[in-house]
Amino acid sequence: MSIRSWAEPYKIKMVEHLRMTTPSERAVSIRQAGHNTFLLRSDDVYIDLLTDSGTTAMSDRQWAAMMLGDEAYAGSKNYYKLEEAVRQYYGYKHLIPTHQGRGAENLLSQIAIRKGDYVPGNMYFTTTRLHQELCGGQFVDVICDEAHDPTSEFPFKGNVDLKKMQALIDKVGADRIPYLSLETNVNMAGGQPCSMANIKAICELCHAHDIPVFLDATRAVENAYFIKELEEGYAEKTIAEILREICSHTDGCTMSAKKDSLVNIGGFLALNDDKLAEKARNMVVVYEGLHTYGGMAGRDMEAMAVGIAESVQYDHIRARIGQVEYLGEKLINAGVPIIRPIGGHGIFLDAARFLPHLPRDQFPAQALAAALYVDSGVRSMERGAVSAGRDPETGENRYPNLELVRLTIPRRVYTQAHMDVTAESVIHLFENPERVQGLKITYEPEYLRFFQCRFEPVSGSAVLLEE
Ligand SMILES: *Cc1c(COP(=O)(O)O)cnc(C)c1O
Repeated sequence: MSIRSWAEPYKIKMVEHLRMTTPSERAVSIRQAGHNTFLLRSDDVYIDLLTDSGTTAMSDRQWAAMMLGDEAYAGSKNYYKLEEAVRQYYGYKHLIPTHQGRGAENLLSQIAIRKGDYVPGNMYFTTTRLHQELCGGQFVDVICDEAHDPTSEFPFKGNVDLKKMQALIDKVGADRIPYLSLETNVNMAGGQPCSMANIKAICELCHAHDIPVFLDATRAVENAYFIKELEEGYAEKTIAEILREICSHTDGCTMSAKKDSLVNIGGFLALNDDKLAEKARNMVVVYEGLHTYGGMAGRDMEAMAVGIAESVQYDHIRARIGQVEYLGEKLINAGVPIIRPIGGHGIFLDAARFLPHLPRDQFPAQALAAALYVDSGVRSMERGAVSAGRDPETGENRYPNLELVRLTIPRRVYTQAHMDVTAESVIHLFENPERVQGLKITYEPEYLRFFQCRFEPVSGSAVLLEE
């Protein structure tokens, strides 16, 4: 690690005003939003750490690229520019653009999964697993045990446990496993990377059984940064070289460009297999749009091509992850329980340890996210039992080991002072945890319930009691 600061490799050209609110105004807003931060209006939010998805500040070069949009229905120039960028930086042969990541997940699930199949992955992601389930597949978690332990300092908690993968192959047979879904910088584990050695080994194991490996490459650039910093033999390699090497072991990827690729909307499916790509091209016209735009405007594809090139610049990725580490270290120094090591895209508060007085069925992470908003106008999100949803077989709540609140840092958007305000608010609540009240569900949608679920405090009082 260099001792110099991670300071931003850019300066601010334009500002976006934020509305300042009071705690009593926010108490009203959170009640109206059913104590679900997804249902708040962004105008009522001061520092928005809900997600790093599509919330990026684009660069002047990307905005200039927007003016080069070729809005032809078919064969837009921008498509070919994007195809070239994906080939150059990710190395896959075929590009099928989609409106965002889940569009690519839908295509891949539909063309590859048959009813009754098992789809292994290194921890579930909400939309990924749902698309697999909607196609009749059953998700099987093959991530290493360390990933489920919020106190483990293991540096590569994204790693697949090869023994778990082998056990699945032995149990159900390789022909019931359409592919391994291999996520980089695993989101639900706290933005935790896979090592190159693990990626290589798991791909060898799968390929020995003719099981393809599709990368969820949403955060592969962030993963490449951790490999460069932490894994022997990679310190001298560029981020671009490491990214290419990750992809080279796999057979294709799904991508949410709203994360690594520094755009507000977009995604893609990339594949090496000609036949599979042909199927995907045929399917994309049904769900997304023609295969040369896949739900994106030409200008969006142009901005994405520029964003992909910017995303692998070392100074960019170092400052992005440096800002996350800055916030995380402030909280660690104050004794706040967070997922260790600090991951790539956000800080994950361990709500179960933060609010030990609340039982799991009162959704401590949901309550903490609501309380944090009332305290300071910082918007975070729940990543625990609400996000995990219900078991499709039994209808029971799923209680994952991790009950987390995610403070996700948008790329290139907030300053160090914003990180300070956030840390102050979290630490303030941590010092008075019993002010936070447990929640019960009052409305629950059928799919991906965390987005639209509504809650009220069990005690009938406010979610954050006054001091
Ligand atoms: C965001 C995300 C997705 C889904 O992408 P969208 O663009 O939101 O549809 C899939 N996988 C991971 C790991 C993600 O972070």
